[in-house]
Amino acid sequence: MAKTITDDKPRIHFDCTKCPAFCCAIYERVQVTKRDINRLAKHFGVTVESAIRRYTKMHSGERVLRRTHDELFDMDACMFLDHETRGCSIYHARPKICREYPGRSRCSYYDVLQFERKQQDDINVLPLFQITFREVKKDEQRDDKGEKIWEWKQGKRRKAKR
Ligand code: SF4
Ligand code: SF4
Repeated sequence: MAKTITDDKPRIHFDCTKCPAFCCAIYERVQVTKRDINRLAKHFGVTVESAIRRYTKMHSGERVLRRTHDELFDMDACMFLDHETRGCSIYHARPKICREYPGRSRCSYYDVLQFERKQQDDINVLPLFQITFREVKKDEQRDDKGEKIWEWKQGKRRKAKR
């Protein structure tokens, strides 16, 4: 009997090698865990204390990677973004959060990039957008049939976090 072979690996619809790494710039908080810092220390052959001091800083109570100015996007980007190749200069030692990003089979920036490049017939088009989160308060309410509905009230704006 013929055997059915299925490929259960999720299909990926983006190619980071064809993208200028917007995700390494737009998120101003790339969180690092203790394990990430240990990996960085090992990668650079420095002590953990030194890795913490050189490569990370505190931001809103979280330890995150440091950033430097990126001319291409005219904003700060992760200090480990290689501005020439637009790739990660510590690829094998990058934090877990970077390994998992975007966590789905599509990358919204890549979709916009491809769309605009095709639409404008120009491979140099560089879409820029901003991600702004708003804190919302969730209020439970009931409609006239007694079904649960939610009301969302706007709160403060927050900066983007990877
Ligand atoms: S923005 Fe998307 S496609 Fe571009 S480098 Fe990041 S994950 Fe890859
Ligand atoms: S560590 Fe690498 S993949 Fe992660 S944000 Fe920095 S440059 Fe990008």
